[in-house]
Amino acid sequence: MKTIGLLGGMSWESTASYYRAINAGIKEHLGGLHSAKIALFSVDFAEIEALQHQDDWHGAGVILEKAAQAVEAAGADFFLIGTNTMHKVAPQIDAAVSIPLLHIADATAEQLKKDGIETVGLLGTCFTMAQDFYKGRLRDNHGIQVIIPTESAQSIVHNIIYEELCQGIIKDNSREQYLQIIDELAARGAQAVILGCTEIGLLVGQQDTPVQLYDTTAIHAAAAVRLALA
Ligand code: GLU
Repeated sequence: MKTIGLLGGMSWESTASYYRAINAGIKEHLGGLHSAKIALFSVDFAEIEALQHQDDWHGAGVILEKAAQAVEAAGADFFLIGTNTMHKVAPQIDAAVSIPLLHIADATAEQLKKDGIETVGLLGTCFTMAQDFYKGRLRDNHGIQVIIPTESAQSIVHNIIYEELCQGIIKDNSREQYLQIIDELAARGAQAVILGCTEIGLLVGQQDTPVQLYDTTAIHAAAAVRLALA
């Protein structure tokens, strides 16, 4: 079994989901007392969030370069960045180490393509929804068209992520707002919706909507398990 490097803490609420999902996946495949070999480097998200909102992405990337080097030194065979948003600086982080990065958008795209989804809605932080590093990769590398919420809906989605989900706050009213935005994306032609922020699965699940959901945390963790066992 390979050792999985995980850059976590963005936020720790979703890193806990990764940790559980990866270990559950290894146990499902190998059974008994088996569990995952994980080198986890968990950052202080307040530092990352401050740099994001100061538009100092390089500075945030430097913190994650060091985290990636630490998991490599700890024996990781490949690594994950446990957040969609910080994949904005994935090339910078990737260049700082010699182990491969398992990119969250590629793992998600593989699942979409397997299921025949060509047009998909995307929920995430404003950075992930509005900028091109994520949806451009889905379009250019995988041929998947992406529909994003209206600007006012993007603000609702973004604020709930930072003010609630990343702080472990789960509100029924916020779930209702997300479900309405998911319905709007489906009405505009999305065949499915990507939960493109690693905390959204804490708020909304497939049981809440008939619209097909792709939870990036679950997909990324499952891809890591497959690679660790390959
Ligand atoms: N975990 C979130 C994501 O997947 C947001 C936190 C962050 O900005 O890294 O994008």
